[in-house]
Amino acid sequence: MLIGIFGYSFAWFLTVLLLSIGLTAWGSFDIRLGYFTPTFFRKKYTAEGRVALTFDDGPSPYTVEILQLLKAYQFKATFFCIGKELSVYPHIARMIINEGHTIGNHTYSHPKNFGFLKEREVVTELEQCNVIIQQIVGKKPQFFRPPFGVTNPSVAKAVQYTAQQVIGWNNRSLDTVIGDDDKIYRRVRQKLKTGDIILFHDTSQRTVDTLKRLLPYLEKKGYISVSVDDLLNLQAYED
Ligand SMILES: [Zn+2]
Repeated sequence: MLIGIFGYSFAWFLTVLLLSIGLTAWGSFDIRLGYFTPTFFRKKYTAEGRVALTFDDGPSPYTVEILQLLKAYQFKATFFCIGKELSVYPHIARMIINEGHTIGNHTYSHPKNFGFLKEREVVTELEQCNVIIQQIVGKKPQFFRPPFGVTNPSVAKAVQYTAQQVIGWNNRSLDTVIGDDDKIYRRVRQKLKTGDIILFHDTSQRTVDTLKRLLPYLEKKGYISVSVDDLLNLQAYED
């Protein structure tokens, strides 16, 4: 009887252990699973046609052209900016804000080894970028998009510490990978649906050229781009 109970408990313990190891490995792979920290990657139920265009790695001189395009269609977007680039182009960051778009944190220096940083190092990257955004916007940003979409225990603990929210995406343009703007345009269009958070980078002419085709298409099909805070009903900045 005693052995029976022990054997049963051990099998149960082993099952739970294996399951948790499996989940941990799986969770660090895909930002959309949001296993380590709650991650917003789309809006499930929203008014028909609402999507959120997002732009990473700026600001850059290309941002100015993107802002002109967004203005022409009265679309709003979210820019996940790198702190270092904000220091180089603060006037472009102010244009983003003045035109009613949202700025989020994308780390201070976009380290290539971001997935291997310790919690303390992630916090430093977050805080350095927060300070610069605060100087421009006047408030602390609430949104963070991790470089390369990495979420792991260090990132989860760091965003808990800085009290920020992780914003992912579910429609990835691959505009830094695909060389041809026609292919990028067709890729985004093919997957497009209400509630999408669409990932672009405001760092190349290719993206500008893609938007010159995508924005009229969105308008024609009844889509409207809103900021991530608007789409998700969240606050973009701390009170
Ligand atoms: Zn990035």
